[in-house]
Amino acid sequence: MTTGINAVPRSIGTDDIAVPFADCHITEEAQAAALRVLRSGWVTTGREVAAFEASFATVVGAEYGVGVSSCTHGIELALRSLDLPPGSLVLSSTMTFCGAVQAIVHAGQLPVLVDVDPKTGMPTPATIRTAVREFGPPAALTVVHWAGDVADVPALAEAAGLPLDRVVVDAAHAVGTYAGDRPIGSGCAATCFSFYATKNLPLGEGGMITTDDPVRAEWLRRARLHGMTADAWRRYLPGGSWRYNVAAPGLKANLTDIQAAMGRAQLAYLPRWQRRRAQIAARYDEQLAGIPGITLPHRPALRDGKHAWHLYPIQLRFAGIDRDAVIAALSERAIGTSVHFIPVHRLAYFSQTAVIPSIGLAGADTLFDRLLSLPIYPRLTDEQVDAVCAALADIAQQNLADRTTCKDGKGTE
Ligand SMILES: *Cc1c(COP(=O)(O)O)cnc(C)c1O
Repeated sequence: MTTGINAVPRSIGTDDIAVPFADCHITEEAQAAALRVLRSGWVTTGREVAAFEASFATVVGAEYGVGVSSCTHGIELALRSLDLPPGSLVLSSTMTFCGAVQAIVHAGQLPVLVDVDPKTGMPTPATIRTAVREFGPPAALTVVHWAGDVADVPALAEAAGLPLDRVVVDAAHAVGTYAGDRPIGSGCAATCFSFYATKNLPLGEGGMITTDDPVRAEWLRRARLHGMTADAWRRYLPGGSWRYNVAAPGLKANLTDIQAAMGRAQLAYLPRWQRRRAQIAARYDEQLAGIPGITLPHRPALRDGKHAWHLYPIQLRFAGIDRDAVIAALSERAIGTSVHFIPVHRLAYFSQTAVIPSIGLAGADTLFDRLLSLPIYPRLTDEQVDAVCAALADIAQQNLADRTTCKDGKGTE
């Protein structure tokens, strides 16, 4: 059985297999590409960025790619490109990364947090309609393909009463996600990807906005670099002109040639990395299915698309031991886990400033208490997966035994 690329079992002690939660694999080819750019005398936005934008757009089936410094800045720029009145309502799932909602704030808009179905971790047409009924029609909608699962973007947009060109997709988890037989990356106003260290195409930092609209692509290309005319980056190249114009406000949110060259090299690995992620998910499925109190992650039906397995989020309902205690018990066994995410409405700033439905966000609250993300990355070995599953089985078992002891004698229950 294959154990992935450069599989390195990381053993500590005699029989404990350490399993870090995350891994950032910068391939030899990407390292060489970075070095090549560093030696070239041109390290910031330039030809490498243009080449990476074209390759990445092709991979995700979009017309244009615009390299940016992060997915967070990508979402902000994409929202700014919609040219909405300041303070407009923008719907977002509350079960997402805080940065995605900060982006709405920084774009000058007002986030409206939407509840999720605890089964999928994502909003439904019904939860969207609940928010729209209470607060009125939104100006835009952000949609996150949570964990790499497939959100039904057209259905959510329809429930929000919005055309697809008012939808910004947060595809931070969705490099490798397919809706039906098409990769995530086209069809909406803009789709924003992350190349953060733990994501499916890691560069350390970086992001990409894809769009099919040439006018939007051009606007984004300027707005990511001070609003300067789009070829201003050439001004320091031999033959480049020192003249440029600024027609709109812009950010400093460009991607560098170092990152882009690494990105092109990393892209060649993406198909095998995605295959390995799917293998790992299947291995978890097989071993965890029999453990009482564990619900496996939701995944799309075959006709609905393909999961990118950025995360493997299980739901835990162990009798008598809560999620946080399980995290501690796993940590004692050198197994790293995480929780994606603390619902945004539970974070102090957003609890005070975001628009939150008066009936609350019970789906997200319920889900949050049960969520646990297990390690999943291409270099994770089968032995490591097995160690995680064995530890979970053991914790579940031991806890059952403890409870039996309690009932038999010490009687704390
Ligand atoms: C990682 C992440 C982001 C932010 O990506 P950056 O590139 O780090 O800005 C946005 N949304 C979600 C859901 C994420 O997981």
